Amino acid sequence: MSYIEPAPLVDKENPFEAMMSRFHTASQLLGLEEQIYNVLKTPARQVIVSLPVTMDDGSIKVFEGYRVIHNTILGPSKGGIRFDPHVNLDEVKALAAWMTWKCAVVDIPYGGAKGGVACNPREMSAGEIERLMRAYTLSMIDIFGPDKDIPAPDMGTGPREMAWLMDEYSRTQGMTVNAVVTGKPIVLGGSLGRTEATGRGVMVSAMAAMEKLKINPYKATCAVQGFGNVGSWAAKLLSERGLKVQAISDLSGAYYNEDGIDFNKAVAYRDANKGTLEGFPEAEKISGNDILTLPVDVLVPAATEDVITAKNAAKIQAKLIVEGANGPTSSKADSVIYEKGISVVPDILANAGGVTVSYFEWVQNRLGYKWTADRVNRRSDRIMKDAFDNVYKVALEYKVSLRIAAYMVAIDKVAKTYKFRGGF
Ligand code: NAD
Repeated sequence: MSYIEPAPLVDKENPFEAMMSRFHTASQLLGLEEQIYNVLKTPARQVIVSLPVTMDDGSIKVFEGYRVIHNTILGPSKGGIRFDPHVNLDEVKALAAWMTWKCAVVDIPYGGAKGGVACNPREMSAGEIERLMRAYTLSMIDIFGPDKDIPAPDMGTGPREMAWLMDEYSRTQGMTVNAVVTGKPIVLGGSLGRTEATGRGVMVSAMAAMEKLKINPYKATCAVQGFGNVGSWAAKLLSERGLKVQAISDLSGAYYNEDGIDFNKAVAYRDANKGTLEGFPEAEKISGNDILTLPVDVLVPAATEDVITAKNAAKIQAKLIVEGANGPTSSKADSVIYEKGISVVPDILANAGGVTVSYFEWVQNRLGYKWTADRVNRRSDRIMKDAFDNVYKVALEYKVSLRIAAYMVAIDKVAKTYKFRGGF
């Protein structure tokens, strides 16, 4: 397939290029038609908005916000909203495309999108964040909709922000529209099980991979980078399945205890300490980067993108990496890791538990009904396990990594849908 230009492989990667590199490889293996390749390599829609917000001191600050819709062939687009100072269009484009592949890999009827605002919520008051979220919602009023584009939380946002989004959207419609956003507080139609869903999916896919690799969870050690929503739940649920979580980390650094970290103490400490693990007394503090190269069996990067690079990949000692974060491994590191014989459950599979339960939340909102936590967990565990098995089968068949296999499963589904629908 000569029409496909090889995506550049650079060290500190542009996240969109990292995504394209895997997309390119998987497309070649699938023999994807040129027309479909060209449709999928570019997002369907990219929106950039300026958001003037009155700050508490009376000044007006203008924030830049983004929403990128990558693809909607499988259904309305779905993707979180990130509030972070480093948000930029390339990052949002990559995250939007990952959402298309993620929804396709777990076989839920959504396309992919992502949003973000370049801001530092840690330095803003609740009132400032609320005004920003409402301004963002209003500027996206033609984009969002329960049948069009359904946002959710991501880094820097949570149920509180989703409640403001739902309220602002509902005001413009003259009625309550709770299916416009997922990740809402339970009382507003949020789903039981949503908070832990991504960490739970990480646990389910980690357990499935450990079974294939014949790693006994009761003898396995683990390190988890990032102690936010995904990392803390993954650490908790993996330790409940027998793994000894020896290290956790957040922006303040990493904390190591050979005998295992008591999850409940770490969460209680973080929550009483303005959300940071700084000073956590039950473990030795080590450099934040060192958590990735500890001699553990399972490594869960659950913080942010591009942390495993060509520079540190050779030093990784884990047998299994389960990507809780989106894009934690650069495409150049992929080959180093593959050659070392380390298995990687890729982000688009490992962290898809979140969007799966978001989908359940949307289904419940549309039904006007509520499922029990048990039903949510059973259904999402089944979806995650089936998706893992499906990807594993393709990896064996094509003799490729789980990452490339996951892209192949996803791209194949989207491409087949285009074939049936046609219409260009
Ligand atoms: P969060 O804001 O709740 O937590 C992020 C955590 O990572 C915090 O503990 C923060 O201190 C830490 N962190 C950030 N940068 C770091 C760095 N460079 N080194 C070490 N620690 C660092 O965010 P989250 O919702 O847990 O999301 C984490 C990752 O998982 C992101 O990549 C996100 O896109 C992805 N993800 C989240 C969900 C979800 O449901 N929340 C779903 C799928 C994917």
